Amino acid sequence: MAKTVRKIMDGLYWIVAREGMLPDSNIYLVKEGERFTIFDAGIPTYFKHTTAAIEELGFSISQLNRIILTHSHLDHSGSVPLFLKEVKDTELWVSRQEGEYLEKGDDSVVYARLLGQRLEPIPVGRKLEEGEVIKAGDFTFQVLHTPGHSIGSLCFFEPNHKILITGDVVFRQGSFGRVDLPTGNPQQLVASITRLAQLPVEILLPGHMNIATSNGQSEIQLSLQYAKQIF
Ligand SMILES: [Zn+2]
Repeated sequence: MAKTVRKIMDGLYWIVAREGMLPDSNIYLVKEGERFTIFDAGIPTYFKHTTAAIEELGFSISQLNRIILTHSHLDHSGSVPLFLKEVKDTELWVSRQEGEYLEKGDDSVVYARLLGQRLEPIPVGRKLEEGEVIKAGDFTFQVLHTPGHSIGSLCFFEPNHKILITGDVVFRQGSFGRVDLPTGNPQQLVASITRLAQLPVEILLPGHMNIATSNGQSEIQLSLQYAKQIF
């Protein structure tokens, strides 16, 4: 059964994370003419449900151009090896910090033990740095390095459409990412959310739970307020 798909705007779609025993991440799909890019890849357990959702949008997975990860935790990255195996002409883009772990097959950040799996080395096509710009279809994303949930967590800000893809840094309704996993750091998380709260965000696209289609900035400001109370 395909995962649920929602249109956010022309050229941008939300493949909704599956609810269940295992954590799964939201996936955001950007159309690029005949091809497409996905932000985050979901957990491998639901790979078939993800590919069915992509097909419902009229794509074959062979048209996958790139997978861009917000960070390398298994619920976001676990399906990457399956995509790389099935699609010849595609590549993985991830932060330099976490790309180095993936290339070595070092699962201390990925947390592969969650599924009792060993992490095989994963080839990284491009290691992203703060300040880079990624063009994808009608969208131009700025790469923001926002550590705290994990050492190489990235957010992607699209100023023309006021979109922010946040991974597990910030969620809706005052929620934010946990800091107790390897390389997590509460002070860094507060600093990262402080930075995000200054952006003119309307559409907030987090790694888990619901999206916000307006007033994204006030959601982030609420998360900042709660994070400051706790840390
Ligand atoms: Zn995470």
